[in-house]
Amino acid sequence: MSGDKRLAFVGDDPAFDWLKLPQVQALFKLLNRDGEEVRIVGGAVRNSLLGMVVKDFDCAATAEPSLVMHWAHDADVRVLPTGLDHGTVTLLIDDMAFEVTTLRTDVETDGRHAQVAFGRDWSVDAHRRDFTMNAVYLDKDGCLHDPTGCGIEDARLRVVRFIGNADRRIAEDYLRILRFFRFYAQYGENFRREDYRACIAAQKSLSTLSAERVGVEMVKLVQGPFAMAALHAMHVGGMLGDVLGSVPRLSRFSGLLRLASSLRLKPDLSLLLTALCVEVEEDAQRVAKTLRLPNRIRDIMVRLVRGYRSVNDPSEAAIQTLAYLHGKEVATSMIMLAIVDRRLDPDLTELSMELHGLELWSVPDFPISGRDLLDHGMAPGPEVGSCLSRLEARWVKSGFALTRSELLSAKLMKCL
Ligand code: ATP
Ligand code: MG
Repeated sequence: MSGDKRLAFVGDDPAFDWLKLPQVQALFKLLNRDGEEVRIVGGAVRNSLLGMVVKDFDCAATAEPSLVMHWAHDADVRVLPTGLDHGTVTLLIDDMAFEVTTLRTDVETDGRHAQVAFGRDWSVDAHRRDFTMNAVYLDKDGCLHDPTGCGIEDARLRVVRFIGNADRRIAEDYLRILRFFRFYAQYGENFRREDYRACIAAQKSLSTLSAERVGVEMVKLVQGPFAMAALHAMHVGGMLGDVLGSVPRLSRFSGLLRLASSLRLKPDLSLLLTALCVEVEEDAQRVAKTLRLPNRIRDIMVRLVRGYRSVNDPSEAAIQTLAYLHGKEVATSMIMLAIVDRRLDPDLTELSMELHGLELWSVPDFPISGRDLLDHGMAPGPEVGSCLSRLEARWVKSGFALTRSELLSAKLMKCL
């Protein structure tokens, strides 16, 4: 079988320790037989070469999906037909998932869909993958196979490089434009100028992609450690606004990253996207739709954009009030957004202590209920709810200091 360029043994490299996991060994045992072979490829190998955490296991196998499923059934391994059309099944071995794709060659492509045929040639399989760093294979003996000849080196040097001619590879699948920037955001120190130019030249084709696929890549991109550089490259190329469905505010985004790093906090997806491109509530709705974000993320973006303008001082009391009203995470995000948006200049050491202190703070419970008001002689009706809200606002304003009896005192109730 071809495609065995640049064999390198990594079986004793601690970054590849996962190779010894019983689940991984079981996978090899299951699919390496009768002349068939499975290798790990993609993210797991790339991340290990970079000394980064491995999140999921993509595998390439010579066995066709029907045979993979048959062997899995025989061995009582659960199988999910994740993408049978293009030769992918997921094997669940104990608590670990392995996405197994039969070696393929793309027969016909139109930029959005590919017709595939199964093959037995590792090199052909490698050359239909997107970037050199994603086409390095690890076999059961701990040897790396690098059919493109530069995957290992590019991974180590963090160069995102299209396999083959970039224009042609993009025309086969337009999503590769976004994957190019996404991998740059996650791993990149560098890319090739001609690859970048090919992405920019083909940007109009992005509008033909499904929002789901665009969303998956952009969500990973904005969370990457080099997101700022990748977003900047997209912006300079004129494609960022259309992809996001909103006007990008790169300086605010980079301000957020700087602030987060000074405070040793990790901004979550909703905060990153709000800082990047949400000015008003409609932006949040539109961006969520454009990127098919989960409703939970959309709702937090809406809350952030509604709330952050009222944050004036990031004092401990103000932070606790926000945490009571919105929850600790949203409160922290709101404070950070307000600081970068309004260019506030707080004492960062103090702020860091306050925000980290919030993690230990237990959110107090409002000590009275509607029942208490009724017990104190209030007539049932809508006034009970509104009186309770006003008392709660009073209590919050007091720094949660007013006690139950103070709240219920006739004096306080009267003054409301
Ligand atoms: P992640 O860590 O985000 O999962 P990954 O490299 O594993 O990164 P996947 O989307 O899981 O990315 O894809 C697995 C592998 O399949 C890739 O490494 C690449 O080899 C190949 N691949 C995925 N999408 C494409 C594509 N659009 N064009 C060509 N090859 C692709
Ligand atoms: Mg993967």
